[in-house]
Amino acid sequence: MEKISIIDSKNHVNEVVEINGWIANKRSSGKIAFLTLRDGSAYFQGIVLKETVGEEAFAQIKNLPQETAVKIIGEIHEDKRSKFGYEIEISQLEVIGTSGDYPITPKEHGTDFLMDHRHLWLRSSKQHAIMQIRNEIIRATYEFFNDRGFIKIDPPILTGSAPEGTTELFETDYFGQSAYLSQSGQLYAEAAAMAFGKVFTFGPTFRAEKSKTRRHLTEFWMIEPEMAFTHQDESLKVQEDYVAFLVRNVLDHCEYALDVLGRDRDVLERYTQTPYPRISYDEAIELLKENGFDDIEWGDDFGSPHETFIANSFEKPVFIMNYPAKIKPFYMPLAPGRDDVVICADLIAPEGYGEIIGGSEREVDYDVLAENIEKFGLSEEEYGWYLDLRKYGSVPHSGFGLGLERTVTWISGIEHIREASPFPRLLHRLRP
Ligand code: ATP
Ligand code: MG
Ligand code: MG
Ligand code: MG
Repeated sequence: MEKISIIDSKNHVNEVVEINGWIANKRSSGKIAFLTLRDGSAYFQGIVLKETVGEEAFAQIKNLPQETAVKIIGEIHEDKRSKFGYEIEISQLEVIGTSGDYPITPKEHGTDFLMDHRHLWLRSSKQHAIMQIRNEIIRATYEFFNDRGFIKIDPPILTGSAPEGTTELFETDYFGQSAYLSQSGQLYAEAAAMAFGKVFTFGPTFRAEKSKTRRHLTEFWMIEPEMAFTHQDESLKVQEDYVAFLVRNVLDHCEYALDVLGRDRDVLERYTQTPYPRISYDEAIELLKENGFDDIEWGDDFGSPHETFIANSFEKPVFIMNYPAKIKPFYMPLAPGRDDVVICADLIAPEGYGEIIGGSEREVDYDVLAENIEKFGLSEEEYGWYLDLRKYGSVPHSGFGLGLERTVTWISGIEHIREASPFPRLLHRLRP
C-alpha cells in the first residue's frame, strides 16, 4: 500500500492508502468520529465509523487527545463540502506518539500566550499557510535570479564596521575587538558584483530596532541583488519584475494557503501587472502637504502613516524616487543637476504594508566617495577595501534590498510581521 501525503490525495481517489500525521482537531457522535488530520502538506478530514472499526477501537480513537501522532490506513474520497476537496475514511489507526493536555486548543488565545508557545503555534493551519507562502517566495527568488544569470554570494554576518552608525547594531566581542552583526550585505555584494557582474545575497540581517512596530523584526532575511553596468532605470525594472514574479508564483503555487488566509486573489493579480507607478520624493511631499499632513517637512524621512497614505493613492506598489541625501547612506550618488537628492528609490507596498525594497545607484567616483566617507564621519582605513572597488575598473552599478518577512506579510495579507518568521525576534522576544 502506498504511503502518501495529504496534499496528494487528489491522485488517489477511491484508493486505500497510508498517511502519517497528527490529529489537529476532532468531534464525534455516537457512531461517527471526525478527525482533522495534518501532516505538514495540508489539513483534511478523516472519518471513523464505529461500524467499520468496531466498538473498542472506536471508543479509543474518539478519546485520542489533540496532537496525537498517528499512522492511518483508509480510503480517499472526494469531499465537495470541504475547502480541501478530499477526505479519508479510516479503517485502521495506530498511535505513533501520544499527546497530553494540549495547551493550544482551537479557541482564541492572546498574542503573548501564542508567542510563548510559538513552537506549538506553528502547527496551526494559518501559520502553516504563511510558512508555505514564505517558502514559495524563497523558491521563486532563487528561480528568478538564477534564470537571469545572477550568482548567489554569501556576505559575512560578523562584520568589523558600522557604515550606518552603531545605534541599530548588535555588538559582540570578537577576541577583544568589537564585531557587529551584519545589518546589510550590500557593500560585500558590490565587491562581488565587480568580480562576477550580477550577484544576489540572501541571508539573515540584524537591527537593534528599539521601537515596537508591526513591520520591524530585530532579525530578518534580506535579498540584496547587485548589478554591474546598471543604472537606476534598469534596476527599477528588475525590482518590479521580481516583485511581480513573486506574487505570480504565490498565486500559482499557494492556492490552498491563500484560501486558508482568505487572501483576495483579484487584489494580488493586480500586483502582477508591471510597470509600477513612480513618483519623486518631492512629489510625495507635495501630495502629503496637499492632503493635510503638516507633521512632515521636505528633508524628513517618511513615517508609516505617510507611506500608507502615498501607497493608498495608487493601485499597485509604488516607487518613491530620489530622497534627500542627508537621510540616505554615504554611498548614494547625487541626482544629476541636484545637490540635495540622491539616485535611489524605495518600493512601497499597497494596503499599508510599508517599504519592502530600498535601493539605489552607487557612487562610483573614487574622490567623491572618499569625501563622503569623511563627511559621514567614517574612517577611510575601515573602508579602504570598499574604496578599492572605485580604483580598479569602477563602473556604474545599482542594487537593492528586499525584506523577506515584509514581503511575506504583505503577500499573505496578515496583520503583523511576527507571523512571517518561524521564530521571530522582536524587542522583547528572544525565546523560544
Ligand atoms: P524602514 O524604513 O521600514 O525602517 P529601512 O529603510 O530601515 O526600512 P533598508 O535599510 O532600506 O530598511 O532595508 C531594506 C529592506 O529590508 C526594507 O525595505 C525592508 O523590506 C526590510 N527591513 C528593514 N528593516 C527591517 C526590519 N527591522 N524588520 C524586517 N524587515 C526590515
Ligand atoms: Mg529602518
Ligand atoms: Mg526606510
Ligand atoms: Mg530603506
